[in-house]
Amino acid sequence: MPLDQEGVLREVHDRGISIVRLWFADILGHIKGFALTARELEDALGQGMGFDGSSIEGFARIQESDLMAHPDPASFAILPSGGGYQSARLFCDLKTPDGKPFAGDPRYILRQNLERAADRGFTYYIGPEMEYFCFKGSDAAEILDHGGYFDASINEIGTVLRKKSLFALEAMGIQVEYSHHEVAPSQHEIDLRYCEALEMAERCLTYRFIIKEVARQEGYYATFMPKPIYGVNGSGMHTHQSLFKGDRNAFFEPDGPYQLSETARHFLAGLLKHVREMTSVLNQTVNSYKRLVAGYEAPVYICWGQMNRSALVRVPRVRADREQSTRLELRSPDPVTNPYLAFSVMLAAGLKGIEEKLEPPPPVERDIYRLSESERAELNIQTLPSNLYEAVLETKGSELVRQALGEHVFNKFIDNKLIEWDEWRMQVTDYEIKTYLPIL
Ligand code: GLU
Ligand code: MG
Repeated sequence: MPLDQEGVLREVHDRGISIVRLWFADILGHIKGFALTARELEDALGQGMGFDGSSIEGFARIQESDLMAHPDPASFAILPSGGGYQSARLFCDLKTPDGKPFAGDPRYILRQNLERAADRGFTYYIGPEMEYFCFKGSDAAEILDHGGYFDASINEIGTVLRKKSLFALEAMGIQVEYSHHEVAPSQHEIDLRYCEALEMAERCLTYRFIIKEVARQEGYYATFMPKPIYGVNGSGMHTHQSLFKGDRNAFFEPDGPYQLSETARHFLAGLLKHVREMTSVLNQTVNSYKRLVAGYEAPVYICWGQMNRSALVRVPRVRADREQSTRLELRSPDPVTNPYLAFSVMLAAGLKGIEEKLEPPPPVERDIYRLSESERAELNIQTLPSNLYEAVLETKGSELVRQALGEHVFNKFIDNKLIEWDEWRMQVTDYEIKTYLPIL
């Protein structure tokens, strides 16, 4: 049961919690916030706490703006202990001093999109697979093991870190489904059990915090950077999604193709149609596009299938009696996305598909990495944007993303990404020095 204000104050008192962290996410999905002593909490829960809201605007920060953080009691969770004291966190709704929701608050943006779904009777569920690497430190991608997909070791440091992270997540009420070594050396995955999208956005933010924190406590470095090592798999965040009406899965139809209902087919068609426009939100760094290349189980081509791990959307095979499990798996997002915004745009694309009764193209079950360009053209298979700039330009022209994110976040997000691109395009990289300097 989620706690109310009274419940939070009781927990803080009974468990001897001395520090309460008020968290929110900036536009780029980094956790921001400040810490309160337990004594101040009652006031904060009642009236909110003022702070300088410009911290939310990422690189595109312009001026100080007064905002209020209103902690949501339902998001209360105790953080793993460290430093000899107990602390807890609460996610906040951000408001202007006159009490209006702040249009630049990613939590508010997702809430609004979820309301649009709720108006049609839908609840949006998400199950993410967030991958990460563990390295010796943050200054080089120096691996800790040579393990591969599903390699079972007990004592290897990556496995020990993974287990500690798993227990820390479970202790915070974040249910884990399973965890394993991933394909690349030093790469791991812990899958969270699906839940409603707002709750899941905050579980994803907390997951990143916990994985990094556990590694740091043990003297290592965990990273969600999408492609830290050239030539091996990068880290994705395959995102399983479904819409429910009450406790019935609206994606499930026992006699439908792949057990998909009409609603699921329309949602799928919406994702495929709008994916290029929302890619900058799902894959928001320059580095993200080094992952989205052929040959490393990350998607490049815009198509769907069931067995096909090179497809953008997969329909996982589920037991015939498992109505709850019918879902669509979008494979392009990566784990540095802002989950509030990512879930917002995916939902908006799916709902648009439903609204317009879009039909998806036929599924593709062949390995698309191996198709020639002309075969792909024959099947009319498009590709994802190949770099951040191309992706941002697509987003800039997207009415769907503008509506899903609202004018404020949409513009700020694009400003941020153009600053990032500009910074990147002026860099002289190791690759250029190695390739050109010896011969030119
Ligand atoms: N690491 C792959 C990716 O970048 C996915 C591999 C897997 O989950 O098996 O999406
Ligand atoms: Mg994986």
